[in-house]
Amino acid sequence: MIMLKSDKEIEVMAEASRIVAQTLLELRTLTRPGVTTLELDDAAETTIRQLGGTPAFKGYRNFPRTLCISVNEEVVHGIPSKRRLQEGDIVGLDLGAIVEGYYGDAAMTIPVGAVSEPAQRLMQVAQQALYDGIAQAKVGNRLSDISHAVQQRAESAGFSVVTDFVGHGIGRQLHEEPQVPNFGPPGQGPRLRPGMVLAIEPMVNMGGSAVKVLSDRWTVVTQDGSLSAHFEHTIAISEGGPRVLTAWERRTAASSPGTMVG
Ligand code: MG
Repeated sequence: MIMLKSDKEIEVMAEASRIVAQTLLELRTLTRPGVTTLELDDAAETTIRQLGGTPAFKGYRNFPRTLCISVNEEVVHGIPSKRRLQEGDIVGLDLGAIVEGYYGDAAMTIPVGAVSEPAQRLMQVAQQALYDGIAQAKVGNRLSDISHAVQQRAESAGFSVVTDFVGHGIGRQLHEEPQVPNFGPPGQGPRLRPGMVLAIEPMVNMGGSAVKVLSDRWTVVTQDGSLSAHFEHTIAISEGGPRVLTAWERRTAASSPGTMVG
């Protein structure tokens, strides 16, 4: 069952999401060659708590840390460690926060120093795929219109989407119905209604779509070792169009959803 949220609930989710966005921006300033992924995790937890939230991932199904940090061929769910980031890496930062029992969830993939042109393009396309999906998140559309738009953007650029992991509804739980796949034909699934809140999260691989989970039972990597990029926003569907609750774009000079062309 899809749980519709009241305006009041969405305002609380907007607060949790604002904390997520602000924390991601803080982490972006700290991401550079030589920093360990554990140091970024510490900064994530400190920032979330300073802003009045609770880390959503720490302890979730026994995940040990605040931040999922996924480097290069790692797709999602990488565990912070003593690994030092290197010039040329691309790094996915995924985090959630809880405020008054409600969740916000977002991710971005960013370069460490200067990265290769193909890596840059992969990140741009994955981000644009997210925005294309968000653009379909409007009242009256069907859920798979989002999925289809994401897949189209990724595949038309020559990349592939991960099918083993998907986006999700979000609210009083981190993962609620419905699942939000990054693939599929348009025009299927439930109609989108005001009060639905979704975490849309394209995972785009430079090579094939196949992934596997490492022996740590969390880290998802591409089977062919190719690079992967991940972007995510928590959005609320409203009569006025999709509201991006986790938007960090408004807080920087970077482009906002809908204005960036891959
Ligand atoms: Mg998510």
